[in-house]
Amino acid sequence: MHIDNIYTAVVKRLNFASIKYLILIKSMNGLYIHIPFCGKVCDYCDFSVLAAPSRLYEEYVTLVLEEAKIRFTMDPSFLGRIQTVYLGGGTPSILPALLMKKMLSGLSELGVPFSQIQEFTMEVNPESAMVERLENAMDFGVDRFSLGLQSLDDSLLQKIGRSHTVKVGMEALEKLILLSSQGIRVSADLMFQLPNQTVENFVSDVRFLASSGVGHISFYGLNVAPHTVLGTHVRKGLLEIPEDLYRDMYNGGVEALERAGFHRYEVSNFAKPREESIHNQNYWNLGEYWGLGPGAHSFQNNMRFAGPQTYAVWRNWVREGCPHKALDLDPIGKKERIFEKVWLSLRQESGLDLDALAKEETVSIASKTLLPLIEKKWIEKEANQVRLVGDGWVMMDSVVEALIPHNIPT
Ligand code: SF4
Repeated sequence: MHIDNIYTAVVKRLNFASIKYLILIKSMNGLYIHIPFCGKVCDYCDFSVLAAPSRLYEEYVTLVLEEAKIRFTMDPSFLGRIQTVYLGGGTPSILPALLMKKMLSGLSELGVPFSQIQEFTMEVNPESAMVERLENAMDFGVDRFSLGLQSLDDSLLQKIGRSHTVKVGMEALEKLILLSSQGIRVSADLMFQLPNQTVENFVSDVRFLASSGVGHISFYGLNVAPHTVLGTHVRKGLLEIPEDLYRDMYNGGVEALERAGFHRYEVSNFAKPREESIHNQNYWNLGEYWGLGPGAHSFQNNMRFAGPQTYAVWRNWVREGCPHKALDLDPIGKKERIFEKVWLSLRQESGLDLDALAKEETVSIASKTLLPLIEKKWIEKEANQVRLVGDGWVMMDSVVEALIPHNIPT
């Protein structure tokens, strides 16, 4: 199983469009605001989004503010602990500047401490990266933009049904990089294992992006969900996913980034010093967060919960006062918590702290379990810390499976 299969499964559950190295983040809260609209739904998209008419945008902003008001009133203490905000989607940059202003002013009036938080990220898609929208977001404290480029090859963008071209992607990248002089941090996303993509094609994209001026790059292997348009094309044999090239593409991308001065602080995330995403590190460190919007997940007091995922159902739920009984509740038992601690720690460069795991969960991982993985050169152990090395990053699912004790009570 590839590293991203297991990742995608949990990411889908958490709905973070949309993930501790130098910065230790504990006991902080994150706020995720979902914007569920895209100009066109990409052929591979498996997220909670819709290509909705722009007349819905205003209604959506009103509803998100209503949801925030109800939930902040239920637990006002959450507001005071917010340290990161993430505007994800969907496509947050699709909202016209005036509506974004209305939403962020409204959240500010409800008590979101925009001026005191550590990081405020907004996802941007190339076709809606208008300067007015970016500057308007910056007025509200957005200090980090994450650009969805996915590929620098027009034929590949077309095959996965993206609506932008490489030219539009490059123009957006240029606009964002110009904002770096105003203290803005810029991240960009790429995908690999695209239909008929070659290793050279992907590594060349990575090299170009690494030299472009961005401080953070994420890359993910394409996950083809069977019910998507792309899934149908693959099933009919119209497109072929180069699954056998996964390892070479991933390792080629890592090598190119490390040569360019980026360090892998998480399996799919690479940063220059102080460019790491604080918000995503909070997810990986099992910090608490709230999500607003259809299907956006929250995690608090060992409980994951989410409102309805379908837009129309979510709209009714908000209009009815966000009744607790309609929440999708998922309490995290001991077994699941241990799995997440092992898996989320190993995803990160800092690795798994065996002493902390033993202390917090009364679970120990025996040396005889570690030894075969050390011999395969998939992990290394230094004092109480276990880290992935070499092909261990590609074999992460197998490593996690080998490390999780099988006799944990649920
Ligand atoms: S831009 Fe992202 S969220 Fe929007 S349709 Fe494409 S894959 Fe889905």
